[in-house]
Amino acid sequence: MSETIPLCVPSIRGNELAYLRECIETNWVSYVGPFVGRFEQALAETVGARYAVATNSGTAALHVALTVAGVQPGDEVLVSDLTFIASANTIRYAGAWPVFTDVTPDTWEMDPQKVVDFIRHECVESGGRLINRTGERPVKAIMPVHILGHPADMDPILELARRYDLRVIEDATESIGAKYKGRMAGHLGDIGCFSFNGNKVITTGGGGALLTDDGAWARRAKHLTTQAKSDEIEYVHDEIGYNYRLTNLQAAFGLAQLECLGKNLEAKRAVATRYAEGLRDVPGLTLPMEAPWAFNTYWLYTVLVDETRFGMDSRALMRYLAERHIQTRPLWAPLHRQAPYRDCQAYRIGVTPRLYRDGLSLPCSVGLTEFDQQRVIEAIRSAALR
Ligand SMILES: *Cc1c(COP(=O)(O)O)cnc(C)c1O
Repeated sequence: MSETIPLCVPSIRGNELAYLRECIETNWVSYVGPFVGRFEQALAETVGARYAVATNSGTAALHVALTVAGVQPGDEVLVSDLTFIASANTIRYAGAWPVFTDVTPDTWEMDPQKVVDFIRHECVESGGRLINRTGERPVKAIMPVHILGHPADMDPILELARRYDLRVIEDATESIGAKYKGRMAGHLGDIGCFSFNGNKVITTGGGGALLTDDGAWARRAKHLTTQAKSDEIEYVHDEIGYNYRLTNLQAAFGLAQLECLGKNLEAKRAVATRYAEGLRDVPGLTLPMEAPWAFNTYWLYTVLVDETRFGMDSRALMRYLAERHIQTRPLWAPLHRQAPYRDCQAYRIGVTPRLYRDGLSLPCSVGLTEFDQQRVIEAIRSAALR
């Protein structure tokens, strides 16, 4: 009974060891080696994109994606207020400024109507550019974040982007395998980014990738991740680049993980189904939804805890479960309230503070056993009865 049930840990059950052994036996362990290309190819095929560029983190992928899409210092990028802070940080790395937008109360994803309203009422078109009247900076891009495995409602966002010539950079770091109206998350906008951090659906230990159909962007992304080296032999560089590459070892691990993506997603959805059955009737708990147009991978299984009806708030439930060796975690504090972003514009935020207050993510590893999951369900039910 005392083994802690973790929130979300990797599942390593495929060809990882065999592929790593191949790296070691062939001496290709660093940035050069055949697995990098194989991993990129397999990723591109998975989402149906023309190109994938592997990076050493999802954060790096987002930074490079913004840069190749033409986001420049002084530009603005609309981003969801409810996400991991890396989304906004990468906008600042590119020298641009985030404008935080609200989420919908049901999906918890970027609210397209508020994005429409922001552009219609807060911006003006001038010289072919869209200018935010507050601060008079050009709005260049939208970064919808598909949080927790559920896609954002993309069509209204894409339509707006076409109308105003904005780039759409999807932060799909949490949602590989998710679908929007049958289309793959990460291949809906101009560029999509994935993360292969250890808590994501598949992992490379640490890593990421960007996906796009634009060959010139893909080539420049590869170039920027490789210190913008313009000659194979001579140390000649044509701009300021980064060392954002994934190693052959990590790509080998990632390829083996990617082979298990389908199985991992099935496991995630099975976990979600069992939680729905076990928790459906608990008063004061709101379970995550799947919009009619969505395929939710349930990367993290997050519930909302209504203090009055459940009998304790989300943080008290977190402590109650921790005492029973069950690890849970709140959602992210709204970005517009975080120290680095307090002075940035936040447009009509109404929903994210409540989700932050009430949200709690439950154990949902791919390898979570039915026995352990039952323990979680019973512990939550016992908390509700107190
Ligand atoms: C994980 C994550 C990232 C960053 O990915 P890393 O690989 O950890 O750099 C960015 N945005 C969101 C929403 C994430 O969950």
